[in-house]
Amino acid sequence: MRRSFRFVRLQNSWVEIVGAAVAAHTRPLRIQDRVLYVAVSSAAWAQNLSYQRQLLLTKLLQIWGDDEGLKDIRFETTGWYAKTKAGCGAPAGTHPLLSSINRISPAAGAVTLEQKLHRLQSLARTRSAQLPRCPRCRMGAFHNELERWGMCGRCVVSTP
Ligand SMILES: [Zn+2]
Repeated sequence: MRRSFRFVRLQNSWVEIVGAAVAAHTRPLRIQDRVLYVAVSSAAWAQNLSYQRQLLLTKLLQIWGDDEGLKDIRFETTGWYAKTKAGCGAPAGTHPLLSSINRISPAAGAVTLEQKLHRLQSLARTRSAQLPRCPRCRMGAFHNELERWGMCGRCVVSTP
């Protein structure tokens, strides 16, 4: 327990130890046989950092302490990709809705972002038959749309 608490403290002070630029490409993984394993974003970073590992080790022991008797730091790219793949799936900075919109091609008749959004909404409606009907166009509408406007979102947009 105490060991994992210390490790969380290491993760929290990681930016302080390695600096913001390096921290963006690295993440401490685990300590095994007195060696700290660090995930890095690329093989080039792994190579660069392994040249500086004695310097990093010294700095790490100053800030974090030497309870583990660390003797070395190893950098590996495998841990980085494992964690990234286990993440939310969409690339960082891409909203899931936006990536769904971008998957709809202009060939489907959707050109502007607004048209794509409409297309996405009607696709979602086609998929779920148990949706309530819009009283205006008699197509499936979302509960929150009917509650708010008394009609579906598409009718609200097309009503002058
Ligand atoms: Zn409608």
